[in-house]
Amino acid sequence: DNINEYFDSEFLKAPLARLSAELSSPPSQKAMAFGAMMMVMRHEPGMARPRGGTGALTEALVKAVQSLGGVILTDQKVEQVLVDDGKAVGVRVAGGKEYRANKGVISSIDAKRLFLHLMDAGDVNTADPNLLERVDRRISDNNETILKIDCALSEPLRFEHHEHKDEYLIGSILIADSVNHVEKAHTDCTIGKIPDEDPSMYIVMPTGLDPSMAPEGKHTLWIEFFAPYQIAGAEGTGLKGTGWTDELKNKVADRVIDKLAQYSPNLKHSIIARHVESPAELSQRVGFYKGNYYHFDMTLDQMLCFRPLPEIANYKTPIDGLFLTGAGTHPGGSISGLPGRNCARVFLHEQHPIAETLNDAKDTIKSTVESVFKSQ
Ligand SMILES: Cc1cc2nc3c(=O)[nH]c(=O)nc-3n(C[C@H](O)[C@H](O)[C@H](O)COP(=O)(O)OP(=O)(O)OC[C@H]3O[C@@H](n4cnc5c(N)ncnc54)[C@H](O)[C@@H]3O)c2cc1C
Repeated sequence: DNINEYFDSEFLKAPLARLSAELSSPPSQKAMAFGAMMMVMRHEPGMARPRGGTGALTEALVKAVQSLGGVILTDQKVEQVLVDDGKAVGVRVAGGKEYRANKGVISSIDAKRLFLHLMDAGDVNTADPNLLERVDRRISDNNETILKIDCALSEPLRFEHHEHKDEYLIGSILIADSVNHVEKAHTDCTIGKIPDEDPSMYIVMPTGLDPSMAPEGKHTLWIEFFAPYQIAGAEGTGLKGTGWTDELKNKVADRVIDKLAQYSPNLKHSIIARHVESPAELSQRVGFYKGNYYHFDMTLDQMLCFRPLPEIANYKTPIDGLFLTGAGTHPGGSISGLPGRNCARVFLHEQHPIAETLNDAKDTIKSTVESVFKSQ
């Protein structure tokens, strides 16, 4: 409705609908206006990409933690959050090793996995007898996730029939023929169908902006194709019972590449190698609940003070010393750093309430003074 209110051209409306549907629901869902608003922020304040790719951001954060004396352990799968006398006191990882917490435990996985899989039900029920059922029933996921195709290219894409300009390759490229095309691409996933008859997609050629990410003259390309996690009618087959197999993911990838090649005819002969990751593989690799990289849907009813549920929306949980952050908390998924920043503030407030309140007051005064002077 919002897009129709402001724009007439299908050429413009279709990619805008595609962007708003990035929050993993069909654009006709009224709550998706929120997605459209988020996408406006791509213009103001704008988007940034770290030189060297997203991995470079992780490396910078690791260095920052280590420079302050922090230690990061990886490949340590938490199997149990340890609770003693109503307080989170540490975690047990695969293999049985236990790590004790001096100040508290912060979880960055979603509330479903945390409370239903990593905690003793008795501990949760003692703190809040309704929480387990509410987490299980209330938090939803509409079955939409991503099949991702990564390609190494011998030459950049060329949109020959679309007045190609190299500058098109710097940003994100959306293949969305019409609003209806986008609507179908997102509705099919919800009912377990793969929308690959006429694929809509989101692509980025990172080397268009940052040539350091490939050998000289070569390029990288990733393609995001929305696909169902659980394929209808294929329950119990394929990886994790989702219906996804190597054969199927490659067949779908071929169709996606066929479609993109209609726009960039040099694509097929320039692919040096490709890697296809199915929704089930993505879910297995990162541990997402049903492949949902936002941890669960970013629909309006699960945003703001409802994310993930009103009673645990302020980064605290009813278990003393157990905090919750990550994509499943406000303001949601994507690489913004905001859930972590907000949670860190709440965590610090718990440790040093007076000092942190004074710090907040100082920041408020400083920003008020700055904005008064700026507006003059
Ligand atoms: C293909 C794709 C493209 C995307 N593109 C963009 C983009 O362009 N821009 C953008 O902003 N966002 C993008 N996103 C979304 C973004 O990546 C996610 O929303 C974001 O990574 C969520 O971050 P997080 O730290 O909250 O959670 P996660 O990234 O899910 O991190 C949680 C971590 O916890 C670990 N973990 C899980 N279970 C356990 C356990 N039991 N014990 C120990 N560790 C555990 C996982 O291995 C993982 O490392 C994209 C996502 C995908 C899949």
